[in-house]
Amino acid sequence: MMDPKQHPSFDGHEDVVFVGGESQGFAGIIAVHSTAIGPAAGGCRIWDYDSVGDALTDALRLSRGMTYKNAMADLPLGGGKAVIYRINTDRVDAFQKFGDAVEKLGGRYITAEDVGATVADMRAIAGRTSYVAGIPKEHGQAGGDPSPMTALGVFVSIKSMLGGSVDGRTIAVQGVGAVGFNLCRLLSAEGAKLVVADVNKANLARAEALGVEIAPVDQIHAVSADLFSPCALGAGLNVQTIPELGAPLICGAANNQLATEEDGARLVARGITYGPDYVVNAGGIINVSAEYLGEAADVVEGRVRAIATRLNTVLDMAKAENIPPHQAADRIVRERIAAAKKN
Ligand code: NAD
Repeated sequence: MMDPKQHPSFDGHEDVVFVGGESQGFAGIIAVHSTAIGPAAGGCRIWDYDSVGDALTDALRLSRGMTYKNAMADLPLGGGKAVIYRINTDRVDAFQKFGDAVEKLGGRYITAEDVGATVADMRAIAGRTSYVAGIPKEHGQAGGDPSPMTALGVFVSIKSMLGGSVDGRTIAVQGVGAVGFNLCRLLSAEGAKLVVADVNKANLARAEALGVEIAPVDQIHAVSADLFSPCALGAGLNVQTIPELGAPLICGAANNQLATEEDGARLVARGITYGPDYVVNAGGIINVSAEYLGEAADVVEGRVRAIATRLNTVLDMAKAENIPPHQAADRIVRERIAAAKKN
């Protein structure tokens, strides 16, 4: 088995555990990046990777990303992530055994849904461990689909970047799936003009009912707009797209929007202000954490709206220190983690 410590994406992760195996009917990796602030929380991704090495890369990067997202959102949680790269038995059985592996970590890792996972999978895990979120709750309790809260966090961030109102402003939205569509609804209700693109025809048709304009998928980033909102996949801001961007502001839900570290500086060089992804898209994890901590649904919205204030702090710091916003965000997080380690 490969040594995670030798992997280029290894970043002092506290624990990287290969779980499952031939006899277990599934195989995966649980990466605990940091528990300095609290138990490592982050979803379980089920994906058909080309190699175990690719699965490890994802687990290492995503778990580190969760440490940053959770710390920035002021949640009492560290960062972790699980990936399952093979299931060759009954799905319920596989997730029960995965639940046993989560239980074995004794609460250092809390799992939830991510790409490829379902509520049914979370229920199977919950049969074996209590360290799981993502299960619909009774009325009044936080929980369930996190995407409306993610959309709300992006919406308040966009509004703030546009000076307090979206009325009459043009916003280009890339991807109108769970988050993108909810975002479009919020923006449209407050008078924004929307231009959207999506590879999925059904999702596009649903957005069209809001009276949006449609742009080609390969042109949406270049649309002349007040703000561009990436809500599809990661790495959309890269050496090819940055010179073509048609808006001076960027703020969207997609994870890992910058393809590389240098792309943050490329945006600055073009005079484009980027609202760092993990600062603005934390609404979902804020919702999931409230569910896990058994809090009431109505505490969540206030916390999600506070994302706009946090974004302002990050953008102000970037300006004052003359560094790209994503670096300002990282700096704030690293200070928080260092302070937590001292206590
Ligand atoms: P989703 O799968 O529901 O929506 C993604 C949409 O993007 C789909 O409609 C898909 O067809 C479209 N798409 C894919 N490739 C595209 C392309 N090249 N051009 C245009 N559209 C394309 O996913 P989601 O839950 O809405 O999440 C969107 C993004 O936000 C993802 O990057 C996700 O990781 C991130 N995110 C989601 C949440 C959440 O609460 N769901 C929380 C934080 C971050």
